[in-house]
Amino acid sequence: MLNWDDYNESEKIQKPQQIKEAQPVSTEQKVETVEENTSEYSPVEAGERAKQAQEAIDNLDTKQGEEELEGLAGRVQVDDKAMINCRADLNQLVPFKYDWAWQKYLDGSANHWMPQEINMTADVALWKSQDGLTADERMIVMRNLGFFSTADSLVANNLVLAIYRLITNPECRQYILRQSFEEAIHTHAYQYCIESLGMDEGEIFNMYREIPSVAKKASWGLKYTKEISDPSFTTGTEETDKQLLKNLIAFYCVLEGIFFYCGFTQILSMGRRNKMTGTAEQFQYILRDESMHLNFGIDMINQIKIENPHLWDEEMRHEAAQMILEGTELEIQYARDTMPRGILGMNAGMMEEYLQFIANRRLVQIGLEEEFEGATNPFPWMSEIMDLRKEKNFFETRVIEYQTGGALSWD
Ligand code: FE
Repeated sequence: MLNWDDYNESEKIQKPQQIKEAQPVSTEQKVETVEENTSEYSPVEAGERAKQAQEAIDNLDTKQGEEELEGLAGRVQVDDKAMINCRADLNQLVPFKYDWAWQKYLDGSANHWMPQEINMTADVALWKSQDGLTADERMIVMRNLGFFSTADSLVANNLVLAIYRLITNPECRQYILRQSFEEAIHTHAYQYCIESLGMDEGEIFNMYREIPSVAKKASWGLKYTKEISDPSFTTGTEETDKQLLKNLIAFYCVLEGIFFYCGFTQILSMGRRNKMTGTAEQFQYILRDESMHLNFGIDMINQIKIENPHLWDEEMRHEAAQMILEGTELEIQYARDTMPRGILGMNAGMMEEYLQFIANRRLVQIGLEEEFEGATNPFPWMSEIMDLRKEKNFFETRVIEYQTGGALSWD
């Protein structure tokens, strides 16, 4: 396996080889080559370098730097700001136009946690004991670590390589930066669980390519990031603005808003039964971050719709609803695959109803009609964590829990 020591070694060897036509080079020769190269360097006389720096600054063309700045209309007014295709200077954070975005940045930052703070000892003992978990329970843990360990990384890539550049508002970008770091923490948390439990890392991190019910979800999401993460992609036409809107629906409403829910329910249900409590606690912290990511995405989508009503035409509304229903179907398939039998007080049928209930919420949140009439929530304890109405209260209690260093309670 290639490691950094090998990499450095091969680099040292290859450079002289390129010059000397692939002759074997001994360690002694390598050292000599380095010394030779160093001796070729003739230092600037004392005092000369500072003089050169001063001259360069005196002759600095500030116009050149200004051209790099986004928008040069002078001081930004609130009305100059827009979610997409904004021409105002994006380096001026204030005055705020979208207080909800700034508030989420503050709330997210007040909500900081790290995976190593959570005790995994009980999980390690249970995972390694012969009869601690059933085969079905073990599969649930592995499949979910398999999906999530790469899913949060797909979300992070989409944020920093696509969305960040195309959302032209500094307070939203501020939250997107916070969210990106949270995605890194989530990937870290899964890696921490995988490492603590001594799982086969290659097997887990490749499930998004090798296990059909996991791979389908990942590739469905990737479809919507492919074009807009191309560095040459820009918004500004109806077609490209709609492409960005579809990406936001795919990643916020479906990936973070539907694809996480079967797995989170399964792992949190395990925690409620006193099994894999460390892993479940990691997932609970992640879900609390995720419910804010989702709400931020919904706010962005709705704000873009308000500012660009022509984008939300019948065709787009149809497509948006279709995307949410496709996501729901994929998640139902994932539920069937991960729960071939009833387990932990739940089964695939109950999960299907739960996902229909979630899908109705997602549809309504972006201004569409419910699709699954009368779908109810068979897991009311889950809404303790994600219910919008309780969000404010949730953050108040969360901060207190951190100050006292107490563990989360399950009910
Ligand atoms: Fe997220």
